[in-house]
Amino acid sequence: MKEKQFKAESKRLLDLMINSIYTNKEIFLRELISNGSDAIDKLYYRSLTDKNISTNRADLKIKIDIDKENRNLIISDNGCGMTEKELETNLGTIAKSGSLAFKEANEKKEDIDIIGQFGVGFYSAFMVSDEVKVESKSIDSDEAYCWKSKGAEGYTIEPCEKEEVGTKITLHIKEDTEEENYSLFLEQYKIEDIVKKYSDYISYPIQMEVTHKHKKEGTENEYEEVKEMETLNSMTPIWKKAKSKVTDEEYNNFYSEKFYDFEKPVKVIHTSVEGQCSYNALLFIPAHLPYDYYTKEYKKGLQLYSNGVLIMEKCEDLLPDYFGFVKGLVDSQDLSLNISREMLQHDRSLKVIAKNIENKIKSELEKLLKDNRDEYEKFFHTFGLQLKYGTYDNYGANKDKLKDLLLFYSSTEKKLVTLKEYKERMKEGQDVIYYAAGETIDKIDLLPQVEMVKEKGFEILYLTDDIDEFVFTVLTQYEDKNFQNVCADNLDLDSEEEKESLKKKNEEYKEMFASMKDAISGEVQDIRFTHRLKNHPVCLTSEGKISIEMQKVLNQMPTDNEVDAKKILEINESHPIVEKLKYLYENDKEKLKDYTKILYSQARLIEGLAIENPTEISNLICDLIAK
Ligand code: ADP
Repeated sequence: MKEKQFKAESKRLLDLMINSIYTNKEIFLRELISNGSDAIDKLYYRSLTDKNISTNRADLKIKIDIDKENRNLIISDNGCGMTEKELETNLGTIAKSGSLAFKEANEKKEDIDIIGQFGVGFYSAFMVSDEVKVESKSIDSDEAYCWKSKGAEGYTIEPCEKEEVGTKITLHIKEDTEEENYSLFLEQYKIEDIVKKYSDYISYPIQMEVTHKHKKEGTENEYEEVKEMETLNSMTPIWKKAKSKVTDEEYNNFYSEKFYDFEKPVKVIHTSVEGQCSYNALLFIPAHLPYDYYTKEYKKGLQLYSNGVLIMEKCEDLLPDYFGFVKGLVDSQDLSLNISREMLQHDRSLKVIAKNIENKIKSELEKLLKDNRDEYEKFFHTFGLQLKYGTYDNYGANKDKLKDLLLFYSSTEKKLVTLKEYKERMKEGQDVIYYAAGETIDKIDLLPQVEMVKEKGFEILYLTDDIDEFVFTVLTQYEDKNFQNVCADNLDLDSEEEKESLKKKNEEYKEMFASMKDAISGEVQDIRFTHRLKNHPVCLTSEGKISIEMQKVLNQMPTDNEVDAKKILEINESHPIVEKLKYLYENDKEKLKDYTKILYSQARLIEGLAIENPTEISNLICDLIAK
């Protein structure tokens, strides 16, 4: 007999299971049944290609036995079984894919989180048992082995007797405590309940010997107990049931079991399509980002079934990237069971299904936006960025599909709004959609350029995600309205007279501006007066396609090419400094240069840009103070 220690990580997980305060302990059964079903699947697949293995699908099943006297609950399957080595690696170490999640979840020190974040599988047996025994005979071995463990101390593996290929798991159920009635898991009705609740759709029969009381023939009220083998699950996959026959709880349970997420999905989409290509689809929009969403490990895709039999775990072609967060499955009888991955990519039916699914997700999101704004905002908070990337991607190829799903913060509504809502509220005579970009709502709100536009009563969209301005660049318009950056040089708020007078004044001060421009040589395209400022003396605006915010975003990226927005230094025409500048231009050109440098630095700081020569500016300001 070999005595072994669990791998460190497994031991920690196991400890958590043994001492679990998780209230939903009954899920252990779902996990073990699901493992049994997977093992039968494996055997069945093998039999399709391996002539040496013959199985009769009708014989494949999972069996549950209750042995109250010895406090044992036994779950057996006639699946592929495990070799000695597999017992060792599969049950001695937690699954690799899970270990990363375990580490992350463990930092939060909450076992609920761990159970919620990924399938803890087999070890959940230790939530309800003080000893677990796994007897298994692999399809690839003539010997059977028994794995046994009382928990964290370790486990043993030794040869044992077992006739049939498959796995038999014996749980010795814990004694009851003040908080927990473990004996429930030895009650027939409870087991029936749990199986119905979590494992009803499992495609193999889950059988249990059930005792029924029958009235004795010829008696009034005498009963006899009759034992019968009963199949506890309906075996109808949930996605093949009529929508009206499935409860929210069933959808949620199915989702959490299948996709290892214990948080309820934001939206369940269940659809059944008959026609050119028939299929059932069951889709879920998760409530949170998968923990690995932004890593290379994350693969989008839906499970693909051909008439109830799983043919691909993750079919990427069924989801566009921007809906890559959607989980779920598609089942179609129009797909062949033995279709290869390569052929599938060119399959016409699959393309039709993918198109339909995309439209369906889109219309369901639109519906959510319309009917349940709070939920939609929650969704958008989590996945809005994906929709924005999707809008921008491929030079805006999908922008028309996505533009009405986007939300942006509004300066007047003080909440997220759609472009449609903005447009419908536009003031008479307003012909552009105003926006300003920056790091945070608060910072944007303080921008000098924003003040006047707000003062004139216009709504401004505040863009805080790096991608936002690029999204507007590819959208170019919403319906017939152009987007206007309030920090761009072409902002047009003035009346014709105001424009005319400004033009004149700029002309008049041309030479002074030329001399100021000299002082900050090469930094700005132009210096001019503006009406766009209310209280502030100066601001920077940009000319052309690249705004100052875009410059910041692009320069954060790890490329060698630095981009530079074409900047204009604008001076508030009605600010008292104008007089001073004029005076200096006529009397002290050196000082004009110094003051220009200070003003330009101020404008840069307000924009959140660094100043190139902070020491020089600091000295100039000290001179001013010392005077
Ligand atoms: P998961 O099922 O998420 O991979 P588990 O801890 O539940 O993680 O199981 C670990 C591994 O042990 C499984 O991947 C499978 O290879 C093996 N296993 C578990 N139960 C059985 C079983 N009843 N029959 C065959 N193999 C099993």
